[in-house]
This record gives sequence, structure tokens and C-alpha cells, in this order.
Amino acid sequence: MHSVGICGSDVHYWQNGRIGDFVVKDPMVLGHEASGTVIKVGPGVTHLKPEQSLRWYKPLSVGIHACKRAGVTLGSKVFVSGSGPIGLVNVLVAKMMGAAAVVITDLSASRLQKAKEVGADFTIQVKNETPQEVASKVESLLGCMPEITVECTGAQACIQAGIYATRSGGTLVLVGLGPEMVTVPIVNAAVREVDIRGIFRYCNTWPVAIALLASKRINVKPLVTHRFPLEKALEAFETTRRGEGVKVMLKCDPTDHSP
Ligand code: NAD
Repeated sequence: MHSVGICGSDVHYWQNGRIGDFVVKDPMVLGHEASGTVIKVGPGVTHLKPEQSLRWYKPLSVGIHACKRAGVTLGSKVFVSGSGPIGLVNVLVAKMMGAAAVVITDLSASRLQKAKEVGADFTIQVKNETPQEVASKVESLLGCMPEITVECTGAQACIQAGIYATRSGGTLVLVGLGPEMVTVPIVNAAVREVDIRGIFRYCNTWPVAIALLASKRINVKPLVTHRFPLEKALEAFETTRRGEGVKVMLKCDPTDHSP
């Protein structure tokens, strides 16, 4: 193993022992965003070779899956709600897929700054606005209502804003996973024929993710804001829990002395 990214879900399992119906009953090894090198393969292994580097680009995969489910295409106007790692990969992928303009919201100015760096056209720092006010800011920045909204916070107010903001006939994709029960203006969505879709992680995204990274068409490096050696895993988890930076990495390979 070379490095492992800390995912919000790792922190949830660590702090709460569960995410919704997924309850930790036995000891669980955290860390599913891994990258490493194949040292040796068994005689029956044909798809891997020694010295091959492997990376699991899980954040990126969630963005690919969400943008595909949303139907992002050339010229799309997209509203991404939430500028955490998941919102940011959705900005990257939406732009890659041809979105003409992407507007993104967050509470944090530094996270919005990062969104600008990765290609967001407009940012909105949410303070005490109502969901309708957020929707109207989205519309005025884009010059029209977005046909696609990708909700990446799970917060009730943001799901509400997502419905109000999306153009009639458009699509709202729910990526953020908050409480199971939320109050949303469902009749508003129904009478304006706004489709609401969910995603659960990703499916068949690895080849696309690897091809985009290998061809350098997409750069996820700006998302990495912190790196800790494995011995400082607790500090790394605490940093993620406090919401500092964006993507916190644990470096497992003690022979790599680069930062
Ligand atoms: P994160 O907590 O790092 O980012 C969420 C961002 O939302 C934060 O920057 C926060 O400031 C912002 N936010 C919170 N309330 C807000 C509000 N009212 N207005 C504007 N912004 C607000 O989390 P992340 O790692 O980016 O993940 C985002 C969500 O996606 C989480 O709910 C996570 O569980 C979910 N997720 C879902 C899937 C899936 O398969 N559906 C996969 C991965 C992650």
C-alpha cells in the first residue's frame, strides 16, 4: 500500500459505528480509497502484473456516476450543492463532460476557493438564506435555472434548495446522504416535472476514471490538502472530522519521503 484517502464514511463509522442501516458489528478495517503496487501475483492471476501500480479512485468514481445519472452533457448548466470532496469531483466531472457553467454552494469560503481552483464558474457562500433565496442566487449567476442539480451535502435545506433551483423538466441527483426522513417541497418537484434520482456509490466507473487520469484529462491532485504518515492516523482522522482542508491522505509507504 502506498496511500489511503480518508473518506467521510470512514469518519462516520469511527465516530458513530454505523451509517444508516450499515451497522458495524465486527471489527472493521477502515480505508477503502487505497493505492498501492502489486509486488507478486499468484499463478492463476492474469489481469495484474508485478510492479503495476493500482489506484482506487473512489472519489472520482462517485462524481462520474452522479454526473452520468444526472445526464450532464455538452452545454449543461449545473448546480452543485456542497463543496466537500464529493461536490468538487462533481465539478471536475461535469466540466469534463461538457457543462457550460457550474455554480457551487458551501458554507465554507476556503472550500469554495478550492471549487474555483478545480473549475467552478460561480460560487455562492451560503449564510442564512432560505432555500428559495439560494435557488434564486443560482439562477441569477447562471442567467437561467440549471437543468441539473447535484446535491452533495445531504442537508435538508440543500435538498429543498436543489428542488427549487432545478429548471422544470430538469434532474436533481441526490448524492449527499443525511437523515432518512427529510421534509422537501415534493409537490413543487412534481408539478414542474423535476426528476429526483439517487446514487449509491458507483458502478462500472473504474475504466472511465482510470482513462481520464491516465490521459491527464482530469487532475484530482488539488483536492489533496493534507498528508500524514500512517503512525499519525489518529491525527489524520481528527483533521477530517474537523472538516479541515479537503482530502486527507495517509501515507503507508515509509520509503517514500516526498511530502
Ligand atoms: P463533506 O462533509 O466533506 O462535504 C459536505 C459539504 O457540504 C461541506 O463542505 C459543508 O460545508 C457543506 N454544507 C453543509 N451544509 C450546507 C448548507 N446548508 N449549504 C451549503 N453547503 C453546506 O462530505 P463529502 O465527503 O463531500 O460527502 C458529501 C456527501 O455525499 C455526504 O453526505 C456523504 O455521505 C455523501 N456520499 C454519498 C455517496 C453515495 O453513494 N450516495 C458516496 C459518497 C459520499
